[in-house]
Amino acid sequence: MKLTKHIIIALILGLITGLGFNIFAPEAFKFADNYILVPVGSVFLNSITMLVVPLVFFSIILGTAGLSDPKKLGRIGGKTVGYFLITTTLALAIGLSVAYIIQPGAGGSFETEAANIEVGDPPPVMETLLNIIPKNPIDSMANGDMLPIITFAVLIGFAMARLGDKTKGVLKLVEQGNEIMMYLVGLVMRIAPYGAFALIASAIGKLGFSALQAMFLYMISIFVALFLHTVLVYGSTVAILGKRNPIEFFKQFSPAMFVAFSTSSSNATLPVAMQTAQENLKISKSVSSFVQPLGATINMDGTAIMQAVATIFIAQVYMIDLTFTDLLIVILTATLASIGTAGVPGVGIIMLTMVLTSVGLPVEGIALVLAVDRILDMTRTAVNITGDAACAVMVQKSEDKHYENQETNKM
Ligand code: ASP
Repeated sequence: MKLTKHIIIALILGLITGLGFNIFAPEAFKFADNYILVPVGSVFLNSITMLVVPLVFFSIILGTAGLSDPKKLGRIGGKTVGYFLITTTLALAIGLSVAYIIQPGAGGSFETEAANIEVGDPPPVMETLLNIIPKNPIDSMANGDMLPIITFAVLIGFAMARLGDKTKGVLKLVEQGNEIMMYLVGLVMRIAPYGAFALIASAIGKLGFSALQAMFLYMISIFVALFLHTVLVYGSTVAILGKRNPIEFFKQFSPAMFVAFSTSSSNATLPVAMQTAQENLKISKSVSSFVQPLGATINMDGTAIMQAVATIFIAQVYMIDLTFTDLLIVILTATLASIGTAGVPGVGIIMLTMVLTSVGLPVEGIALVLAVDRILDMTRTAVNITGDAACAVMVQKSEDKHYENQETNKM
């Protein structure tokens, strides 16, 4: 909790510093950004990202190897993926509704001519899904491709569970490897306040405030939808399905949310998110190490909300009417797009091209929303990882219940 306080103070100071530079000393900002803010931010970001691949690898092996009953993996997997799909659809419905109520792109003037921006092609979602099975696991690890790493680790864990005593030595090694990674997460988190300060000051200092003004309604729509989704969907998941106090949940998980906010990366936040879930929320290792890495990779409700609002916004600016069927297509493609979005900064906006093309909207529309995307990326990433934690709470509760029922049946 002391650490959370320090991170919050750092975020506020970073915000003030970034604003100060932006308004009073834009020239000095460039120097400060290049020589202080970016280096300090990168030291934190690199140190935490360094732990992602080994931590995910060890903890998934450990989690799967600990499943005495192989059916449990299928059960947890089914509930997790089901929850991810349902909440992403709800996120899109909330995003679309809020955008239709607030009408961010109607009225106001937006510079559609300034739209000669290069947007890279989104990676094909089918390819991402097929790559779940790695041809070369070492290559996947070197590239930090999460899905194939998850598959490989689950298979190793599964084999270890089946082989039992024969792999005792490897189990010990993996357990100790996991301990080492968790210890390092704690160590790296000590510099989190400095990192958060530098990352926020750098992001805010770069913001163009005139762009913010023009995009006010667009940003408000996204903030409102993110807020509603977090409170309604995650709040009720935790309260109804997890049988826990949602306020306590948000409070206890907040350190990870602040790290997500400052890094704009679900992947980089993963080590902290897992540690926070296991230590503060008391989620078991087997649930946390399966649900959270998978969620950080494929479950992006915050990103889906941005894509929904951005699609409506762009349609309104270009005065293109979307039919009901178009909206269903948006829900389908945005679900796929958010699955295909990697948990690193700014990818959600690239995946937006896929959604726009699916309903015939001009891809250049992205140029309109790009200028303010960083601040939205920070916010939606915090929501993205909270969804994974809410899912972990739900899965944990239903697993506990499953075993309680089995016990009572035995009696
Ligand atoms: N930055 C987001 C994340 O890591 C992805 C995105 O929407 O760009 O979760």
